[in-house]
Amino acid sequence: MRTCDTLQRAGYKAFVVGGGVRDSLLGLQPKDFDVATNATPEDVQALFRRARIIGRRFKIVHVMFGRETIETSTFRALQTDAETDEHGRVLRDNVFGTQHEDALRRDFTVNALYYDPIGDQVLDYLGGVADLKARVLRMIGDPATRYREDPVRMLRTVRFAAKLQFDVDAATLAPIRSLADLIENVPSARLFDEMLKLLESGHALACLHKLRDEGLHHGVLPMLDLILEQPHGARFVELALAQTDARVRAGKSISPGFLFATLLWQRVADRWQARKAAGEHSIPALMEAMDRVLDEQAAKLAIQRRHIADMREIWGLQPRFERTGRSAVRVLEHLRFRAGYDFMLLRVEAGELPQELGEWWTAFVEADPIGREALLNEAASESRSGNGNGTGRKRRRRGGARRSGRAAAEGDASAPEPEGDSAAGSDSPAGGPSQPAS
Ligand code: ATP
Ligand code: MG
Repeated sequence: MRTCDTLQRAGYKAFVVGGGVRDSLLGLQPKDFDVATNATPEDVQALFRRARIIGRRFKIVHVMFGRETIETSTFRALQTDAETDEHGRVLRDNVFGTQHEDALRRDFTVNALYYDPIGDQVLDYLGGVADLKARVLRMIGDPATRYREDPVRMLRTVRFAAKLQFDVDAATLAPIRSLADLIENVPSARLFDEMLKLLESGHALACLHKLRDEGLHHGVLPMLDLILEQPHGARFVELALAQTDARVRAGKSISPGFLFATLLWQRVADRWQARKAAGEHSIPALMEAMDRVLDEQAAKLAIQRRHIADMREIWGLQPRFERTGRSAVRVLEHLRFRAGYDFMLLRVEAGELPQELGEWWTAFVEADPIGREALLNEAASESRSGNGNGTGRKRRRRGGARRSGRAAAEGDASAPEPEGDSAAGSDSPAGGPSQPAS
């Protein structure tokens, strides 16, 4: 409201566009608001105290109020003679245009509505309101051409169809299957952004199924076939995504690192198992498996470095959850403990780790210092009584859960605590320096 008002008072046109209008009209809570205007980025910046021009060729302005950022862009036209790559992908899209031209360069009719919050009026050049009422997702212009211009639009079709629970217009859907491979030409950082939007849509599971139905996953998550087809992997990922969707719908934040860690886990776990079966030690085998899977994925979709760091920590913690000895005290103090623990619980729920292990950890997390000490003593005595390590009860051994005594002992020997995350080790509630379980 303030962004539009300020621009209009200065004599410019200014409208809310995109998801903010679409979702409001549908009675949904918009994720954010974007503004379109005929003011140039420099004009916009001059009008606001806190405004930053973002991007070099394709400039937009971030207008900031408190913690709110309003992405403000100048009306643009799609050039008919735009520079493209050999598949028709538009390389530049930075020519200012009229408002009508701006509507035409947008992706779907329902995304091309302009709302003037001061005059309380919606401008609809392309029949977006009718499509909104009919709950139809319709690409503006010739769909095949629009997908060639920007293959990411295929992912957007999948995302909006799942999120809005709209039917995809037949002509909009038809070309996707045959053009799916064009996704491979999209810069991997852009692909990551769009995939993240898809996974954070609150309908991630439905989106992934749709991606596969349309053959779009090869260029994005090549292992999706594997994930969705293996009975084991499917259960794990479906649980993870269902949990993610529930969090998003409840308005909670989600961690991209955690999300991608779950998506790629099956691959890591398989490789880890294979290496251990070939005689490698548990921890180095896991590190190798992680590196290989991350390298493989990097070629397709550039997961940002900070998320990769989270993924490594979450995965790297897993062997340490597979035991219940004294080392548990240090695991508890790890900076990423919570994420690692949640991840472990998913593995338990998917049947990859024994139920009892998850229960032991939950009891351990929730206990007071005396209770923790009791749990540690219980685990130690069970392991002394020849039941192996851990909770000592009969365990199902499935998937990544093989826990030979040797692997467990190595866990401690070959996984030194990184400096810093265990600084409080010696005055931890359980008291005394940590010792190996057995
Ligand atoms: P969300 O609720 O996910 O933010 P949105 O429709 O606002 O949905 P954005 O990615 O924020 O999606 O984009 C804002 C608007 O910019 C879109 O509604 C659409 O009009 C236009 N747009 C975004 N990406 C494209 C694209 N690849 N091709 C054409 N128009 C696009
Ligand atoms: Mg938006």
